Parts: sequence; C-alpha cells; structure tokens
Amino acid sequence: MTTPMRRQYLELKRQFKDTILFFRLGDFYETFDDDAKIVASVCDVVLTSRPVGNDLRVPLAGVPWHSVEGYVARLIQAGYKVAIAEQQGETPVDGLVPRLVNRIVSAGTVVEPGMLPEKRNNYLAAVVRQEDRAGVAYADITTGEFATTEFSGADVAQRVHEELARLQPAELLTVEDAAVLPGEASLAAGALTRLPPWRFELATAQRALLDHFRVHTLAGFGCESKPLAISAAGALLQYLREMQPSALAQLTSLFTYSLTEFMVLDEATRRNLELTESIRGSDNRHTLLAVLDDTRTPMGARLLRRRLGQPLLDLAQLDARLGAVAAFQQHGLVRAELLALLKGFGDLERWVNRVVQRIALPRDLLGIRQALTKVNEARRITGQMRPAADAAALFAALEARLDPCADVESLLSQAIVEEPPATLQHVGIIRPGFSAEIDAVVAASKDAKTWVANLEGTERARTGIRSLKVGYNKVFGYYLEVSTANAHLAPADYMRKQTLVNAERYITPKLKEMESVILHADERQLELEQQVYRTVLDQVAAQAGRLLALAQALAELDVYAALAEVAARNRYVRPELADDGAIEIKAGRHPVVELTQREEPFVPNDVSLHPEQAIIILTGPNMAGKSVFLRQVALITLMAHIGSFVPADAAHIGVVDRVFTRVGAADDIARGQSTFMVEMVEAANILNHASSRSLLILDEIGRGTSTYDGMAIAWAIVEHIHNHPRLRAKTLFATHYHELTDLALRLPHVVNFSLAVAEEGGRVVFLHKIVPGKADRSYGVHVAELAGLPRTVIARADEILADLEAKGAAGPRKLGMATGPRQLGLFVTSHPIVEDLKKLDVNGLSPLAALNVLFELQQRARQE
Ligand code: ADP
Ligand code: MG
Repeated sequence: MTTPMRRQYLELKRQFKDTILFFRLGDFYETFDDDAKIVASVCDVVLTSRPVGNDLRVPLAGVPWHSVEGYVARLIQAGYKVAIAEQQGETPVDGLVPRLVNRIVSAGTVVEPGMLPEKRNNYLAAVVRQEDRAGVAYADITTGEFATTEFSGADVAQRVHEELARLQPAELLTVEDAAVLPGEASLAAGALTRLPPWRFELATAQRALLDHFRVHTLAGFGCESKPLAISAAGALLQYLREMQPSALAQLTSLFTYSLTEFMVLDEATRRNLELTESIRGSDNRHTLLAVLDDTRTPMGARLLRRRLGQPLLDLAQLDARLGAVAAFQQHGLVRAELLALLKGFGDLERWVNRVVQRIALPRDLLGIRQALTKVNEARRITGQMRPAADAAALFAALEARLDPCADVESLLSQAIVEEPPATLQHVGIIRPGFSAEIDAVVAASKDAKTWVANLEGTERARTGIRSLKVGYNKVFGYYLEVSTANAHLAPADYMRKQTLVNAERYITPKLKEMESVILHADERQLELEQQVYRTVLDQVAAQAGRLLALAQALAELDVYAALAEVAARNRYVRPELADDGAIEIKAGRHPVVELTQREEPFVPNDVSLHPEQAIIILTGPNMAGKSVFLRQVALITLMAHIGSFVPADAAHIGVVDRVFTRVGAADDIARGQSTFMVEMVEAANILNHASSRSLLILDEIGRGTSTYDGMAIAWAIVEHIHNHPRLRAKTLFATHYHELTDLALRLPHVVNFSLAVAEEGGRVVFLHKIVPGKADRSYGVHVAELAGLPRTVIARADEILADLEAKGAAGPRKLGMATGPRQLGLFVTSHPIVEDLKKLDVNGLSPLAALNVLFELQQRARQE
C-alpha cells in the first residue's frame, strides 16, 4: 500500500512530467524520485529517502520554503522548469491537505528581480521552420519588448542560428517533433521547451494574437503576410498565457522586423570578436561591451547591449546617433551632470512593467516616484546643449518623451508613504489622508485603544471601586475585574463573564464593541490598503505608455552620454559613414587591447580597403600583432555601425552588411578540437554568403592541416574572393604561408602588408607596425628563442631553416594541384578548371584533400 500523500504526489506529478515538482510539506518544498536527484546535484542539497509504504523508500531532496527563490533560480539557470505545489486551506478530517500547483517557473517567464540579470534582456523566443522558411519571435516580459520576423533562403538554418546567437534566449519554444534545431547549439545555457504542433498552427496563432491585441487584422503590426512570423509570435503568446498570464498585459505591441536592416554577425564572429563574452572563461571584462558600457541605468545597459548585438545599416539613423554622441562629447559638463543624475532613475522600465503586471511592490512604486521627480532636471540639463543639425531631430523626439508624468508623480506621493513595508502583507503602505475609509478605520482603532486605556480610570471614578482593573486574555478578550469583596458594587450594565477564586470579571456592551473595533481594525486596514493599492496600480498602469516612453528616452540618453564619456576618456573620434564600400582608418587601435595591455604602449595602425585594394594579405612572425590588427579593423567597423565613436585618429567607414571572422583551427582557442573540415565548412559558408559590402577577417585559415593542403585551400579562397563578380569583399587575411604573398603579383586587387620587425643584437623586436610589403621570413625560430629554448637548439634550427628555404621550391607539387604559387607563371591555358583537373594527381591525394579539391572545383564551375 502506498501512502495517501504519495498517491497525491504521483497524481500531481503526472500533470507536470517534464517539470521539477516542488511539493510543499510544512516548512519545506520536497522533491522526489528523479526530481530529487536533479535538485540534489544542481542545488547542492542532501539526497535522502523517504518511506512511501510497503517498505518502499524513494529518493527525497528538500529545500526550506523561505529560501526557495534561490534554489528555483539555480534550477532554471540549469535549464529546468519548476512547478510549485502549495497546500490549499486547512487540514481536513482525513488528514491530507489538498495541494495545487499555482506557479510554474521557466527561464523565459521569470519576473522575480532576484532571478533576472539586470543588465541584459531575458528573452523567451519561439522558432518555427518550414522547408526554406523560418519565423523567429521573441519577448522580454520584464520590459514589454515583443518582436517577430520571417525570412527564407537556402541558408535559412544558418540565419535562424545567427538570430538565436544574437538573442541568447533564456528559453526557446519549438515544435514538439521538430528535428534538432540548428540554433540549439547556441543555447547551451538556456532551456528548450517543446510545444505541440497545433500551438504553431497559423489559424490558432493568428487567433491568439488578434484576441490579445483586440484587433481584426495584424496589418498594423506589419506581419499580416508573414505566416511564420505570426505562427512563432502566436505560439509564444499562448505559452505565456499559460505560464505567466499576468505578463500578457504589457505586451502591448508587436514589432515586425527584417533581418536585412541589420548587419549580420554569425555566431563564430560574435565569439571571435569577443563582443559580449570573452573567449577565455567567464571573465567578461575584456570584451567590447565592457569597454563601451559606462551607462548608469539598467535600461541603458540593456539598450547598449541590444545595439551591439544588432548593428544598423541605415546611414541616416546612424548619423543621428553619432550626432547625439558628438553633442554629449562637446558638452562635457552637461554630460557629467546628466550621467550623475541618471544613476537615480533606477530600473524605471522594469518597475513600470511590474505595475502593468500588477505585481509591483511598494518599493517599485517608490522607485517610479523618485525617478519622476528627476525628469524635469534631466530636461533642463539636456536642454543646455545645442546639438548640430544631424542630431536635432533625434533630441527633439527624445525631449518630447521626457515626460515628467506629473499626474502619476503626484498620485504616488499622495498615495504611498515615504518608507513603505517591503511586502503587501503589512499595513502602513497607504499614506494617511489618501483614503477616507482607511483613515476612518485607523482613527476608530486609535480612539478605541485610547478609550480602553482610559477605562480603568473612568470606571474607578464611576463605581468608586479603587481596585478595579482592566485586563485582556485570549479566551474572553477585554474584561473589567472586580474583587469578590467589591462585587456587590458592580453597576447594572456589568455582565459577568468569569468567576475566579477571589474576583469577578465583567464585560460591558461598549467594551465588547471597542474590542471588536481594535481586533478587526488591523485586518480591515490591511484589506482596505490592498484594495486602494490595487486601484493605485490600475491608475499608474493606465499611464504605462507614457512611462515606458520616458524609460526608453532615458535609456537612449544614457547610451549616448555613456558612449561620449567613453569616447572622451579613450580619445575616440567620430567615424565618417558612407556607402562607398571603403574602409579607411588612420591610426586605429584595438579598443580592448589598448586598455588591457599595460607592459608596452599600444601601436596604432592604418588600414585602407576599397574596391581597388580589396584584399590585404598580412604576414609577419608569430606574436607580431596580426590577429590584434585584424580584429581591431572589425571592431572599429562594428562600433561605427552601432553609432559609437571609434579608437582612431580618423575613420571613414563604408557600410558593411556582414562581418565574417574565421580563425584557423590551430588558433581557435575556444574550440581546441575543431577540425580542418569544420574550418572548411565555415570558409565555404563565407564564400557562399559574403557580398561586395562584406568585411572578411580570415586569421590563419588553412592552418589546421598539413602545410601544403592548407596553403592550397587558402590560395584558392583568396582567388575566389578576388575573382567572383558578386564578391571582392573587403578582406584581411593573416597568414603564415609566405607563399601567399605571391598572389599580389598576379591579382590586381590584392596587396601585401606585413608587421615590421627589428633585429637588435640578434634578437627580434616586434614593432607592431603594419608596413607595406611582405614579411621575408617567419621568424618562428626567433620566437622560440624568446620563449627560452636552449641556445644550441636555436642555432641548429637556424641551420635547418636555411636548408629548407633553399629547397623550398619543390614543395607545393606534392599536392599535385597547380595552385602552388611558384607554378603560377606556367599558366597560359584554355580553361583554368580543365587545366587544374588535368594536373590533378589523384593517386597522391588524401581523401580529405580530394574532397576539398572537388569542392573548390565545383564552386568555381558553378560561377562560370
Ligand atoms: P599574431 O597574431 O601576429 O601572432 P597577436 O595579434 O596575437 O600576434 O599579438 C600578440 C601580442 O602582441 C598581443 O597579445 C599584444 O599583447 C601585442 N600586440 C599586438 N598588436 C599590438 C600593437 N599594435 N601594439 C602593442 N602591442 C600589440
Ligand atoms: Mg594570430
């Protein structure tokens, strides 16, 4: 026989199969069976066992109720969902309290401030795929953001992946029976929730959206003719309705966006450029975001992070953003004043959303009120600036949204006390004078208490009994006590209640009445205060549109002022944006390395990329600064596209539609096990997707294989980028294959640069300076010397190197493919592909090399 409690548990658990069930038992939430094992390991609590009848014991792990939030937070961070079952009402006669799940917590639907990251959005996303089309929707229920998009193409899986890499959703919704999604890999930290297919059905999804927004058509949201965008957004909405119904209220609009408005950054590029996370470990100080984020409000920090994830392609908007930063840069005092003031605005955005969800606590309202009192000051400060024409419209629009919402401010200051209790379970939230009804209750209770306090004196005087006492006990309440000896003096209106050995206790109707006033006053006050509090929330929520517009305006000001502050501190300049496909940077610096490297000063470098000089082959010894230079060009370009100033003396940046970075397998620290094949797949991906407006950063591509295979592939890739009519993307190619520098002789738009090296007394000194021309040798031996290898080994290595360099010309023929640089002079032939085919030494090829050659030939054939 299993115990009744066990049966109750199993009954509940059946409804929450893929969820950890927290089962309230007295002061603990208990988990059982497999749930208990998960909780024990994720939350570091002891795994024990509990008898459930018939000598059977099951695993048990419990957490104390008062600290449940922390444990739930750890579980959802680990990708689980938690259902919380509470005891309902009193213990019935048969002894078993009924229990109900009244809250399910998942990573994408949390609202508890303690479980949310402050400086980033917490996205719930939904994705749906149909052949070569996909829809992606996302929402942050703590800020009210709700957006959807649809796109198509042969690379749809890739685009889904990129979009999810950008959003890094805390939780992703997908169709139950969908094959493994490409984006799942990027969701290492988030949770995956599978929903039945009907949730995504167009009709159901559309109905959910129409009902929610109370509209007849979705045309106003721009997604009317995007069925997959609708289906993803609708599925998301239905899920929220189930999990967190109170959150629906603040999804007041749906924003349909197109991926073509933004620069494409694939996952590898985001990672390689260390935009928001550093490659090595969890220390995120060495990221671009860490350098740029000097915002003073959480909503500003979130906005900056979003912009960094989604660089813009629209020149007019970017110029306006840059104009705003310029204004703050020129007005240093205004900037300092504003930044100091902004600190006091707190998380206005999330507080307002908590009001809309009706879960705001008194301190959230206090925060809103305090923020509102500072709006006029913010207006006054920004009003002192005279922005140039490019930013005038932007500032005017911001100013219009800097609405002090005086009505809300005065409501809150009248309604809420200065230091309210932390929760709604205590009286004393509503300010005296705000509600006549509450005041009456409080006053009556106070009067009654005074009356009782004075009762002893008044009754002694009335009855003449000098020993008369007023007392209180739990059973009888207030009473008047008279000694037995004086009992005969008790007036007629005294009603005997209790007889003691030598005293009588009485009550009077008036005393009973006062007692009831006192006893019920607190209860009544709490009830009334909660009622009044709810109407205050309703009134504030009715103004949520204005309040959120204000929060967003403050977030924007915060971002511009912070970017200006960073620009001033680090000597950045305003980039000049254009649509001419050129990138010209004078004395550019790497924004992160220049700040983190202390041993030697950072050496600035120029770069010039344009259609005539599209491809730079960069050679130089190991540790000379090739990788740093490549990344600095990419980062400066990217910074310009979010509207930031850049670390350089001057920068002209032509709009770039995509930045690709690929790092050769041997150099890719994050994936040590990466294979040559992975590298080639990624290279293929670039060649298939880059356009002439793209920026390609190729760092030691082809390194993950034996020298000549890798070199041949690298050679072919550069040729392809150069020759393809659609391509000729701006390319920086760092390589240790010095043979590749010969490409500049043959291809007109390829130039060589190298890192200058000086030799002082037989030792190599890296100057970190980019100079025209190729590096003459690899200096690898000298690096070994720097690393402290014994002198005899260095000397011998020098000998071997000289020997190898003398014989070097024979090398590339091993592959049998006519891509080796030293054979290029022999090409005087009909069709290059046919010629290459003829020269192919099939027997001498490894299977992998064969595959690559085949791939390359096919690519070339397709482009003919
Ligand atoms: P490579 O890719 O050529 O092997 P890196 O780009 O990784 O070399 O640079 C090696 C180190 O040299 C960096 O970690 C950095 O400390 C230093 N370095 C690189 N570029 C510069 C520069 N422009 N100024 C000063 N130091 C630099
Ligand atoms: Mg390198």
